[in-house]
Amino acid sequence: MTSPLPAFAAVVVAAGSGSRAGGGKQWRLLGGRPVLRWSVQALLEAGAEDLVVVIPAGAEAGAGEALAGLTGWRIAAGGATRADSVRSGLEALGGPPARPVLIHDAARPLLTPPVIRRVLEALSDAEGALPALPVADSLRRGDDGLMADPVEREGLWRAQTPQAFRHATITAAYAAWPAGEAATDEATVVQRAGGRVRLVDGDPRLMKLTFPEDFAMAEALIPRQTRVGQGFDAHRWGPGSSVWLCGVEIAHDQTLIGHSDADAGLHALTDAILGAMGDGDIGDHFPPTDPQWKGASSDRFLVHAVERLHARGGRLVNVDVTLICERPKVKPHRQAMRERLAGLLSLPLDAVSVKATTTEAMGFTGRGEGLAAQAVATIDLPA
Ligand code: MG
Repeated sequence: MTSPLPAFAAVVVAAGSGSRAGGGKQWRLLGGRPVLRWSVQALLEAGAEDLVVVIPAGAEAGAGEALAGLTGWRIAAGGATRADSVRSGLEALGGPPARPVLIHDAARPLLTPPVIRRVLEALSDAEGALPALPVADSLRRGDDGLMADPVEREGLWRAQTPQAFRHATITAAYAAWPAGEAATDEATVVQRAGGRVRLVDGDPRLMKLTFPEDFAMAEALIPRQTRVGQGFDAHRWGPGSSVWLCGVEIAHDQTLIGHSDADAGLHALTDAILGAMGDGDIGDHFPPTDPQWKGASSDRFLVHAVERLHARGGRLVNVDVTLICERPKVKPHRQAMRERLAGLLSLPLDAVSVKATTTEAMGFTGRGEGLAAQAVATIDLPA
């Protein structure tokens, strides 16, 4: 059993222009969520009783959108420097002087509860705490592209955030900080004011998104889960001259009857993807009572499901469709169907399977009353 965390508040600094990472990195999506949302959510879920997000002036609407649905946060306008922004956040926060405040960079989205716990617990015998990692690589000073003096790495640490202090401690330390001198971080400010700042174990996943390539690395660090969904659909045969199956039109002496184009293969597959996401079924998204879907080409249903998956930072891994009918013969069209699905889903061909079977003249498919389709989809979602 771990002890409950002390009450704490937080300031999340998202006021930078982030020019090295391509500008406005706090709004970019990581695993389907804005970068800013990751740490705000982590701090709120860890129990922050008050939280101020410091954003550039004029970015209120963007922040509201990025944090939609989360409660317990407020915004403050950033200043010209990081220190000004933090001061603005602390002022907006207020609260009891002895209450711990975590000051965190929004550019470090992958914040976990253990790090929050470690910095808070360290305040029991120090005036400040910051997560830090020992330097593993050799350090070299460079001079115009040539190696200059080596730097001894012994005793060196890479500082991260959130950094924790009691409200009165960090406020007083900033008040004592020399005007005109740039402060690297709050730990430096408190230490200069005579406070003891404890180094606690950091987390490599708390990497700071600085350069454009950092996004790909952070994306790879997000915990993900594999999920499976299945779908089933059936439509009745009726008079006609062609049938749509898996997005391919096949000449046939009958057609499938339905509100849309009755492509049972695409309908089963759409349901499989929605099912893997726990996102309802095709009828929820495209009600058959809605006249706008009359005769609709079913590829748009499928693309809609995939777009919803992408919006959640998910990826489709593979799909497998089985068509169940006596006629028409599916085999001659299987390759075209796979290619069509691969194109719609942006998947490699070997991740798209279309199979066909009969039911040996048994049941409604066997008697030629209708065609059925089954589908399975595997997806990968941020956990
Ligand atoms: Mg259907």
